[in-house]
Amino acid sequence: MRITVLGKSPAWQDAGGACSGYLVEEDDFALLLDCGNGVFSKLRNFRDYVDVDAVLISHLHADHFLDLIPFSYALQFAPRQQPVAVGGWPGTSTPARPGLYAPKGAGDMFRRLVSCWGDEELIERAFELCEYDGPDELSIGPFEVHFCEVPHYTRTFAAQISANGGRLTYSADCSPNDALVRFAEDTDLLLIEATLPRPERTGMRGHLTPAEAGEHGRRAGAHRVVITHYSDELDADWAQAEAGAAFGRPVELAYEGAVYEVPGPE
Ligand SMILES: [Zn+2]
Ligand SMILES: [Zn+2]
Repeated sequence: MRITVLGKSPAWQDAGGACSGYLVEEDDFALLLDCGNGVFSKLRNFRDYVDVDAVLISHLHADHFLDLIPFSYALQFAPRQQPVAVGGWPGTSTPARPGLYAPKGAGDMFRRLVSCWGDEELIERAFELCEYDGPDELSIGPFEVHFCEVPHYTRTFAAQISANGGRLTYSADCSPNDALVRFAEDTDLLLIEATLPRPERTGMRGHLTPAEAGEHGRRAGAHRVVITHYSDELDADWAQAEAGAAFGRPVELAYEGAVYEVPGPE
């Protein structure tokens, strides 16, 4: 499988950047893993949005799903999605309607959000919504997807995506936890958040430092670690060094346009 970073920012975008979004492709099938603010625009640089087969959302924080809104407008109102010829497009009887896999309760949340300006069915008309829960195992095109609930401020699922002998483990957002270590055991690629310059000083923990991310990778025996969800206001060299020291080997920094092949060349 081939993974392309569309956005790696935390809850506020880097200058010119986007929040969480990763394009995961196997053969002709395209799965968009998270769709945070800014991601729809970045997606268009890499793949036509009508050719996205499915979208998988890890948790219902804005930086992981908010661009479902512009994506929904495109799917409904773009001239080429219309049943009759318009704007130079021939009209289609089969407009794109990707699958949308999101945590239980997502439909209700989407309706409440969009109803603020009056069209509560916007997202569910554009996508075929399927809510999942922790124990579920999904087959999405060529991908087998497993979930692991991880500690965060809202119900959040790390995801494991397997295809053709390769395995990607995505941490989503989380505080330090053993469940992710077990879930990611021996994974080909651990894409793991490294949001914090230092652990939270007050309240519950919800994120990882780069050193904690590297340590999760080492304990899991991950073959390869990519850290993500870090701000351009964090010193990237420092973050990479901290994570690498804890992992015991070099780690990579996610950046927009980075491509990873899983499994990699032997
Ligand atoms: Zn979050
Ligand atoms: Zn986040």
